[in-house]
Amino acid sequence: MTIHVVGNVCVDTSFRLERLPLPGETLNAAAAGDGPGGKGANQAVAAARTRAAVALWAPVGRDAASDWVEGAIAAEIPDLRLVHLDLPCDRSVIMIDRSGENVIITAAACAEAFDPLAMTALGDTWAAGDMLLMQGNLPTAATMACLTAARAAGLVTVLNPSPLSADPLDLAAVSLIVVNRPEAEALTGEADAERAARRLLAMGADSAIVTLGSAGALLLEAGASSVLRLPPSDVEAVDASGAGDCFAGTLAGLLAQGAPLRDAARLATRAAAIAVGRPGTLASFPTPAEIAALTK
Ligand code: ADP
Repeated sequence: MTIHVVGNVCVDTSFRLERLPLPGETLNAAAAGDGPGGKGANQAVAAARTRAAVALWAPVGRDAASDWVEGAIAAEIPDLRLVHLDLPCDRSVIMIDRSGENVIITAAACAEAFDPLAMTALGDTWAAGDMLLMQGNLPTAATMACLTAARAAGLVTVLNPSPLSADPLDLAAVSLIVVNRPEAEALTGEADAERAARRLLAMGADSAIVTLGSAGALLLEAGASSVLRLPPSDVEAVDASGAGDCFAGTLAGLLAQGAPLRDAARLATRAAAIAVGRPGTLASFPTPAEIAALTK
């Protein structure tokens, strides 16, 4: 079975600074660099590193940055289904201070213009039993249309609706929702993670995972009366950026290869902790060999 990851790709430009700049100020960075990013690309790479079969359906522009990011992710995802739009490549500028605090600005014209079912052969390519994995970067109407069509076609649908949009989500089209604690509260109005998970099922999702940062995660499975707490791995946090993407991609990759949900979720917690213990976003995700060692 194939995991169809449908989402965004961008170039992340990161600056490491002593402190974040004030309005009107210019600072020299201690280090700077470009890397491939976007939640779609991040989760597709994390899934591919579990050795799952992954197809990434995403928009890019028609410029040098788009060519560069395509080359960078093609090495990890052989089945790349990129759509080239007459737009500049999507970008994020990330400023990180010494304490790890960050400020992020994104320009996402490609993601905002992407309608996967209208612009790609996705709907003709997927098959019953495949998995659809989506995030919150595409227009909510396009995301909901994909999830609903995939569900009707017999796919397992996994949604990590980050960043959250103001438009409502219909969770009846979602087999498994993965959200962090602030997103769970924003979606459900419940500050308590367990109550939020129960509410997500009442809103239509079959199962829900609430990730809790350094406190691990919590799983409420379809039909289960009680939640399962997934303890965190003990790690010295170096850079938590992308932890949620590493979690969601690893989880989907293992599920697609037949792992029971609770086992896949436990291993995803451990994979995300490895990523948190190293600098970078994609660069910090566990390698295929590290994932294989976790699953032994
Ligand atoms: P997001 O990155 O979406 O905000 P979280 O912060 O909840 O999501 O992190 C996702 C997962 O990464 C957590 O469920 C946990 O498994 C792991 N994780 C994050 N921070 C830490 C940490 N400090 N120590 C150990 N694991 C962590």
